[in-house]
Amino acid sequence: MERPTSYFGHHVFNEKVMRERLPKNVFEQLTSAINGGPHKLNIKIADVVAAAMKEWATSLGATHYAHWFHPRTELTAEKHMAFLSLDDKGAPLEAFTGSELIQSEPDASSLPSGGMRSTFEARGYTAWDPTSPAFVMLTEKGGTLCIPSIFLSWDGTPLDMKMPLLKAIAAIETRAIRLLRLFGNRGVHWVKVTVGAEQEFFLVEDSLARKRPDLVLCGRTLLGCPPPKGQQLEDHYFGAIHPRVLTYMEDVEAELHKLGIAIKTRHDEVAPCQFEFAPQFTDANLATDQNQLMMTVMKRIAPHHGFKLLLHEKPFAGINGSGKHTNISLMDSDGYNLLEPTNNQRKNVQFLAFVGALILGISKYSSLLRASVASPGNMHRLGGFEAPPAIMSVYLGSTLTNVLERLEEGFPEEIPTSGIIDLGLAKLPTLKKENSDRNRTAPLAFTGNKFEFRATGASQSIAGPLTMLLAVWAWGIEEVSNRIESRLGNSDITDATLDVMRDIAKESAKVRFEGNCYDKAWHDEAVRRDLPIATTTPDALSYYLIPENRALLSSLSIMTDREIVAYYETRLEQYVKTLDVEMAVMEDMIRHAILPSISKQVALEGKAFEKATSILDGNFESWKGKIKSLCDAKEQLYHRLEQLRNLRYRISNCSLEESSSLITNEGISLMNEIRSLSDAAELWIDDMIQPYPSYRDLLVIQ
Ligand code: ADP
Ligand code: MG
Repeated sequence: MERPTSYFGHHVFNEKVMRERLPKNVFEQLTSAINGGPHKLNIKIADVVAAAMKEWATSLGATHYAHWFHPRTELTAEKHMAFLSLDDKGAPLEAFTGSELIQSEPDASSLPSGGMRSTFEARGYTAWDPTSPAFVMLTEKGGTLCIPSIFLSWDGTPLDMKMPLLKAIAAIETRAIRLLRLFGNRGVHWVKVTVGAEQEFFLVEDSLARKRPDLVLCGRTLLGCPPPKGQQLEDHYFGAIHPRVLTYMEDVEAELHKLGIAIKTRHDEVAPCQFEFAPQFTDANLATDQNQLMMTVMKRIAPHHGFKLLLHEKPFAGINGSGKHTNISLMDSDGYNLLEPTNNQRKNVQFLAFVGALILGISKYSSLLRASVASPGNMHRLGGFEAPPAIMSVYLGSTLTNVLERLEEGFPEEIPTSGIIDLGLAKLPTLKKENSDRNRTAPLAFTGNKFEFRATGASQSIAGPLTMLLAVWAWGIEEVSNRIESRLGNSDITDATLDVMRDIAKESAKVRFEGNCYDKAWHDEAVRRDLPIATTTPDALSYYLIPENRALLSSLSIMTDREIVAYYETRLEQYVKTLDVEMAVMEDMIRHAILPSISKQVALEGKAFEKATSILDGNFESWKGKIKSLCDAKEQLYHRLEQLRNLRYRISNCSLEESSSLITNEGISLMNEIRSLSDAAELWIDDMIQPYPSYRDLLVIQ
C-alpha cells in the first residue's frame, strides 16, 4: 500500500512543482503575484509558466487544458482544448501559450447571467486565477489540465461565483488588518479567511436509482411512501461503515489526495445511506475550489462502485436531508487563529472584538445570510426539524453569552482594566471544551475556535454563503474599528473595546439564541424579536433586493447594484426552472407509470374479488373499499394532473416573478397533493407491479 504522503498533491501544480520546473526569477514573480504582491504577471512570464505547466501536465498524461470556472449554476464549467496543434506545414505539435493560460473565450452565451449579457454579445471570457493552483484531472485515456479561472462578461462584469467571493475576501482582509493594528499588531501583513466545508451526501444503488426518472433528472425523489424502517432506530450515525462504501471512500480519498485535498473525517450520517466527508481547512478561495472538486470526484467515482451519489438537500421525504456545514475563521500572518481564545486577557479582548463584529453584522444583515442559502433544494431541508430553521440566529455558548450579558447589564459601570478578570475573559480557553457538546440546532454557532454556518445546502457552492458571511463580518469589523477608534482618546484599547462590546451586546441580543432552534417556541420568539423569517426560496431571495443589503454589497465593492439584481434574477430563474422540471417529471411519472400500475392492481383485485364473491358468501366490505379507494385515487390523480398542466401553461406565459409566485403558492401544494395520492396508492400495490424501486429498497445498501 502506498502511503498518502507519497502521492499527496501529485496532480497539483503546487509550489514544489513550480520551484522545480520554473526558472528562479519566474518562480519568484509568480509566487509574489499569488500572494498578492506588487508584481503583475506579464505575458513573457506567462509564456514560461504555460510551457512548464504543459510539460508537467503532459508528463502525467494530460492531453487537454481547460479554464475551470464557477458559473452561477452552482456547478463548475470547463471547455476542453487540445494541446495538439498543427504547424503551418501540417505537422503535429503540442502547444500552450501564455495568453492561452491567462485568458480564454468560451462561447458562454448559454450560461446564466440574469440579463447581464444577451446572446448577441455572448463573448464572456475566463481569466486565470493564480491564487488557486492548476491541477490535472486524469481519465483512463488521458486527462485535462484545469486552470482555475474567473468568468467575466465582455465589459468586465463578473458572471461567476468566484469574483464576488474574491472581493469579499479582500474586503475582510483589509478591515481585519486595520482592527489588528488598533490592538497594536504592527507586524501583521496579511489575514486569511480559513474555511473547512463538511460535505454530507447519500449513496444509493445505481441500478435502482437509474430506474427512477426523479432521481435521474431531479436528484431527489418526487414520490414514494415511507419505508418500513427509516432512521427511527438511530442506528446509522457513526455506525461501522459498510465495506462497499468504505472502498468507495478510499478510492475518492486517494483521488482527492492526489489533487491536494486532505480528507480528515469520514463517517456514517444520521439517515440510512447518508455519509459525510470533511477535509482539512484551508484558504477560503482554495476551500471553495476544493469542495467543487470533491463533489465532482465523488460523483464520477460512485458508479464504479455501483452507487449513485445524491448531493440534493432533501433526496427523500421524511428522512434527514444533507447540508454542508461551513466552518470559518480568520488567520493572521503569524499563523494565529483570530477566533482562538488564549490565556492572554488582552488577546481575548481582541478575540471578543472579532466575535462582536460578526454578531453585530448579523444583527443588521441576517437577511443576507438567509438569502445566500436559498435554493430550490434547501427549501425542503431548512426548518425540517433536522436542519437549522429558516431564521438566522447565532449560538455563542454559555461562557461568551455570560460575558455579553454581564456587559449588557452594564457591568462593570466604569470598566477598569482589572474588570476583565471579573468578566471571565481570562477563562476563555475553556470555550473549546464547552463547545464540544454544543447546540447543533443553530444556523450559525461558535464552536470553540471558529464559527460553523450550518444552513448551507449540500449541493451548493460554498462561494455564495461565504461571500455574504464575509460581507457581513467585514462590515462589522469596520464598524467595531470605527467605534473603538472614536473612544481611544479617553481610554486604552481594552476599556474602549469593552465599552464598544457593551453596546454590541445590546444590539445583537435579538440574533443571539442559545435554546433549541427546532422548537416551535423559537419561531414564535423570532416573530416577537422581529427577525426576518422567509420560509420560501423566493421570499428569501427577495432579501437581496433590500436597499440596505444592496448598499452593503456595493459599498464593500463585492457586487455592483446592477450585479446584485442580476444575481437575484439568476437565482430566481434557477428556482422556477428547477421546479418546472420537477413538475414535468412528476407528471411524466404519474402518467406513464403510477396510473397504469393502479389500473393493473385494480384489475388484479377486481378479478380476485369477482372470483371470491362467486364462490363465497360473505361481507367483503374492506376489500371492496380498498378497490374503490384505488379507483378514487386514480380519478383524483387525473384531476390534479389536469390542474398541474394548466398551471404549467400559465407559468410558461408570465414574468419570472409571477411564475415564481404561481409555483410557490399553487405548484408546491399541488405537487404535495399529487404525491400524497400516489404514495397512498403505492401502499396497496403489488411488489411485482410497482413501477419504481421503493424507499424500502432504495434506502438500503446491499
Ligand atoms: P463537526 O464536529 O462539526 O462534525 P468535523 O471534524 O466534521 O466537525 O469538521 C470540522 C471542519 O472544520 C473541518 O473541515 C475542519 O478542517 C474545519 N476547521 C477546523 N478549524 C478551522 C478553522 N480555524 N477555520 C476554518 N475551518 C476549520
Ligand atoms: Mg462533521
